[in-house]
Amino acid sequence: MPSLLKPSTKDKAKALRQRIDDSLDGLAKAVDDVRASETFRQFLDVQARFHKYSWHNTLLICMQRPDATQVAGYRTWLKLGRQVRKGEGGIMIFAPCPWKHEKESDTGETETEQGIYFKAVHVFDVAQTDGDELPTVSVPTVDSAADDLLANLLRVAESRGIAVDFRPVSGGPFGASKHGSIDVDNQHATGQQSKTLAHELAHEALHWEDKGPFTRSLAELEAESVAYVVCLHFGLDTEVRSSRYIALWDGDSKALRASLERIADTARDIIDDVEAPGAKRQVA
Ligand SMILES: [Zn+2]
Repeated sequence: MPSLLKPSTKDKAKALRQRIDDSLDGLAKAVDDVRASETFRQFLDVQARFHKYSWHNTLLICMQRPDATQVAGYRTWLKLGRQVRKGEGGIMIFAPCPWKHEKESDTGETETEQGIYFKAVHVFDVAQTDGDELPTVSVPTVDSAADDLLANLLRVAESRGIAVDFRPVSGGPFGASKHGSIDVDNQHATGQQSKTLAHELAHEALHWEDKGPFTRSLAELEAESVAYVVCLHFGLDTEVRSSRYIALWDGDSKALRASLERIADTARDIIDDVEAPGAKRQVA
C-alpha cells in the first residue's frame, strides 16, 4: 500500500535534511575557528601589504612572469623581511603618478591643471626573494581513498550529461567546472578527487548562466560547502581542507548560513542521485 510508504519517505527526507543542517553547523564553526586563529590573522596582515594591481598591470605581470604568485616592490619585500636576490630582473609595470601645476590665465587668474601620467616601475615575485617565511594558511589535500564514492559521483555526473576528464592539472586548482564538462586532477588520492568532483558538480548546478548574481567568493563557499556535506554523508571527512579553503575565499559562518538553502538543496540532490540510481531527478 503506497500510503504506508509515504511517511517513511518523508521521514527519511527530514532526517537527511537534519543531517545536512548538522554538518553545515559543524563546518560553519570550523570556518570561524580558522578565521579566529593567530596564523590566519598574521596571514591577512601580510596579504594586506600586497598591492591589488590593475587589470593592465596584472596582464603585464602574467606576460613577463607567468608563474608569479606574490608580487611586490623592492621596499615592500624589505619590510616583510625578504631581500630581492642580486641579479634578479624586475617585472615592469606602470605606476600612476598624479601631477598638478599652476599657471596664470590670460585674465591674470591662477589656474590649476592636473592629470595622471604613468611611469615604469619594477616589482619582484616572491620566488626572486630570500628571507623570512611568509605566514601561510595551508590547505591540505585529502589523502584517504574513497574509490566507491568517486565511482558514484562519476555516475551522477554522467547521468546529468556532464563529461568528466580525469587528468593531471599542474599548479592552481585541482579541478574546473566548464559548463557541461568537468576536469579533475587525477594526481591525488581518490578521496581528494571525490571532494573535487563534488565541488565542481556544485558549480555546475549553481553557478552558470541565469543562476543569479554572485561573487567568486560566494561561489567557492557554496561549492566547497556542498562538497563537504556530500563527502561527509558518505563517510569522508574533509573538514580541515574545506574550512580553510572557505576562510581563504573570505567566507564565514554568516555567509554560509545566508546560503544554507542553496547549499542544502544542492547537496541533497547529489546525495539522492548517488543513493537512488535511476531515480528521476525533480526538475526545479
Ligand atoms: Zn570552485
